[in-house]
This record gives sequence, C-alpha cells and structure tokens, in this order.
Amino acid sequence: MKQSQYFLKTSKAAPKDDVSVNARLLEQAGFVQKVMAGVYSYLPLGLRVLQKVENIIREEMNAIGASEVLMPALQPSKNWVATGRWDELDVLFKLGSRHPKNDDPLPATYSYALGPTHEEIVTPMAKEIIGSYRDLPKAVFQIQTKFRDEARAKAGLMRGREFRMKDLYSFHSNEEDLTAYYNKVAGAYKRIFERLGIPALYVEASGGTFSKYSHEFQVETPNGEDTVYVCNKCSLAVNKEIFDDQKVCSNCNVRDYRETKASEVGNIFELKTKYSDSFNLKFTDEDGSQKTVLMGCYGIGPSRCMGVVVEQHFDEKGIIWPESIAPFKVHLLGLGAKDETVSKAASDLYQNLQAAGVEVLYDDRDSSAGEKFADSDLIGIPYRVVISAKTMGENKVEFKPRNSAESEMLTIEDLIKKLT
Ligand code: ATP
Ligand code: MG
Repeated sequence: MKQSQYFLKTSKAAPKDDVSVNARLLEQAGFVQKVMAGVYSYLPLGLRVLQKVENIIREEMNAIGASEVLMPALQPSKNWVATGRWDELDVLFKLGSRHPKNDDPLPATYSYALGPTHEEIVTPMAKEIIGSYRDLPKAVFQIQTKFRDEARAKAGLMRGREFRMKDLYSFHSNEEDLTAYYNKVAGAYKRIFERLGIPALYVEASGGTFSKYSHEFQVETPNGEDTVYVCNKCSLAVNKEIFDDQKVCSNCNVRDYRETKASEVGNIFELKTKYSDSFNLKFTDEDGSQKTVLMGCYGIGPSRCMGVVVEQHFDEKGIIWPESIAPFKVHLLGLGAKDETVSKAASDLYQNLQAAGVEVLYDDRDSSAGEKFADSDLIGIPYRVVISAKTMGENKVEFKPRNSAESEMLTIEDLIKKLT
C-alpha cells in the first residue's frame, strides 16, 4: 500500500478526553477515530489489525471443531423476556419500531434489543438442530458486533458501548462432556492470547448460580479494571470478587498470592441448563428419555484485545505491534521522494517485496525524513526499511526492527531473504 494514497493521517495532538494509552496511541497513529463515548470507527490500519486478531481467534475456534455462524444484532424482546434478562440486564439497549408487529409482546416503544450477548438467540436456534443424543455435542461461534449500555465507557477500545466479540456456545448431553469441552476451549484461549502477544492469566471467578467457578482470562496491565490475586507457586489466579472465600489456591493448596491489576480479555462459563430451561431445549437420550441439553458459553473481545495489546506494547515514540497482528510487516520509507533514482529504487523494492508476499506500507510521500521516522515509530510496524541516496551509495538499505535500537545495512537480496 502506498501511503500517499492511503486513508491515513497521524496526529501530533493527543485526544483530550481519554487518557488511556491505547486510546491515545490508536487515535494519534490513525488506527481508529472516536465517534462518541465508547464508539469508534476503524480506519484502514485499525481494521487490518482487528481482522488479524479475529482471524487468529477464528483459526483456533475451527481447530476445536466449532462451526461459524452469524446471528443478528437486532433481537426480539420476547426472547429476552423468556430468560428474565429483559428487566435484569442493566446494559441492555432497548429500542422500538415505528411499525410494530402484531406478535410484539411489549408496547411499540420497546420491542427490540440490541444484542449484548447471544444466549437468547442461539438457544432457540439450536432447537431446530438438536433433537437426539446423536445430534450432540455441537458448538457454534460467531465474531460480531455487540452493544452494551456501559455506564462508564472509557479506556479506548477496552470498554466500548459498541464492540467486537467472539462468542462460542456449546451443547452437550452430559456434564463430563461439557467439562471436557470447557477445558478444550481453555486450551484454545491460552493459545489465542499467546499468539496475540498478550499471554493471559487463568483466573477463577464467580460461576453464578450454576457452577462453582467460571474462568476469566486476564492480562496484567496497570490500566486494567480488575484486581486479581496470582498464586506465586503455580500462577493460577483468583478474581478479587471471590478472593475472600478462597482459603488456599485450588491447584496447589497454599496461600501465597500477589495482587495485581488486570484486564479481562476472555471469559468461559458452564451455563448448564440455565438457558436450555428457558427455551425448553431438550434431546431424546439413548434410553428414550427426554433430557435437558447442557450448555457452555465462551467469550473473547477482539476489540478489547487490540486495546490491551497496545497497553502492553508501546514506548515513548508509539506502538510496537507484535508481528502476528501488525497491520503490515514492513514499513518502507523512501527518503528524498524528489530524487528520481531514489524513488525509482524505492518503488522497485516495494514491488519486489509485494511479489515476495511481504505486506508493505510504502511511505512514498513528499515529506521530511524526520516526519517519516516519527510516523513510522508512532504506527509501530515491526520492521522499518529505509532507502535513501545515502543507503544507495552503499548499494544497500537500512533495516531496523521497531523493538530494537540497532539497525543494520542489508543488500536487497539479504533483506528479502530476511523477510520471507
Ligand atoms: P467485563 O467484566 O469486562 O464487563 P463481561 O464479564 O461482562 O466483561 P462477557 O460478557 O463475558 O464480559 O464478554 C466476553 C468478552 O467480551 C469479555 O471477556 C471482554 O473481552 C469483551 N467485552 C465485554 N464487554 C466489553 C466492552 N464493553 N467493551 C469491549 N469488550 C468487552
Ligand atoms: Mg467479567
């Protein structure tokens, strides 16, 4: 991509109304634009990162045998009335239609919800698919936009009112099968956060009415909203909300914790029959008896993950993207755009890198070296390649990883070898 044509503008001024690191850097570097509190547009650079995050999650979901679906954000109130969450859930956005339908159970003013999560849709959906023990187990996931009327939408992408979520739901005939899948999902989550460059703590949290625990995946970060206690022996952690009841670590039976701030990037729950009861989701077992389907639900916030990655990977100059989710692999800076030999060489190198399958952002703009360097550090692409009259004098280019202070001079041949 040529930077002169790209829909991108960096800014020197930090946003006034949000002091979090991710909001400041992502806005200044031109990844996102704030529309209102907790609502962002993703600009091309930001969308590339978000899509990479979501693809890593998608790959790991496919690897544990889940099928991808897409459910609606606009949902009928009656499903929410059926579970009791129409009145219970304080973050539920409710809206009306100017053309009410006859089967709307509520006054026209509030007949719809904007989905904050999808148990109310996925459970009735599964009724059409699951009838017998032979239909179980099943697992479906989606990667979709969620809406929550959060009281305090702040900290950039970390707490939005409109945000991205991967939600997975599993259906089982018995508890052992549910627990086995739950553990399999936990393994997939561990791999996901490692691949995203934000290894997460495995945290015991309250399980609601149906299980002893749920588990959260929490990334240690000073801006995190949660307080967790990490076992010094085995690093299993406990959320503060249940810490007082926890006498010893449930893994190694000692009480030796350190306290830390963290941000929840994922959450897994055994729902058991909570939602299958509401929608009468049953199956016929081998012996002919009717039983209630057991469910699990498992969430990850790709947009929050993107914010957390920035909170973890930055310096005073800007973002330092992990290679796995960087918008491009290489930032090619052509210095002295007016010098025809340099711009010809830079544009040839740009084409060679693209032909070699390397994702390149090529700064072909007619601006100063200082400006290009500053933008490049702010944007945080993993490898910077500079080509100028000076480097051409040596028949080489300058190569510098974003996370290192050292650069080296390489021939084009060696550069391409290094990057492929
Ligand atoms: P939190 O405790 O942070 O409010 P939650 O427990 O309500 O989140 P879930 O309903 O389990 O979250 O949602 C699954 C995942 O979606 C969370 O782990 C988080 O990564 C993400 N998420 C939840 N709420 C938001 C939000 N308002 N903005 C961005 N991401 C969110
Ligand atoms: Mg939570």
